[in-house]
Amino acid sequence: MPKSRQRSAPGRAARANDATPAARLTETHVKRPLLRVGCGVDAHPLRPGRRLVLGGVEIPHPRGLAGHSDADVLSHAVCDALLGALGLEDMGARFPDSDETLRGRPSLWFLEEVMREARTRGFEIVNVDTVILAEAPRLQPHIAAMRKMLAAALGVSVDSVTVKAKRLEGMGAVGRQEGIMAQAIALLAGPT
Ligand SMILES: [Zn+2]
Repeated sequence: MPKSRQRSAPGRAARANDATPAARLTETHVKRPLLRVGCGVDAHPLRPGRRLVLGGVEIPHPRGLAGHSDADVLSHAVCDALLGALGLEDMGARFPDSDETLRGRPSLWFLEEVMREARTRGFEIVNVDTVILAEAPRLQPHIAAMRKMLAAALGVSVDSVTVKAKRLEGMGAVGRQEGIMAQAIALLAGPT
């Protein structure tokens, strides 16, 4: 037998330790979870007489977001990020405006539904990161509550969900306070 074939198991272990992290990941004996990433973007107009709900948290403001459900733009962006990571149709296709049973529904329900499906397919959340683009109101005091609500709906720890808020310094439709936008990215780990 050639010398290279006579390597003992400890020898292989030592070689694996010497390898770069990337090389170690390519070792065939390492069981890796299937990682899938998805992104989501959403926007809704601000209208008088509507509640402003972001990440399941009602925020005092003279105007709220208009839409078929509670128009929670942050939850919708997270929902689309999860659906994208799972390779499924987006929110509009999955929960259409034409479905009257969804009118006024709290958007955290959509997240619970999508996570139920994700778990039946063997996927769990690694992390979700989000940004809300809003000129007003000031969102910083509500960030912790939003993270808590989103994490509870997704069935993960608060550490796995982050929410950031940005102003657009008066630029564009968001800067003119015509509406609010949100972006989300989700990383899911599936079966090995
Ligand atoms: Zn939406």
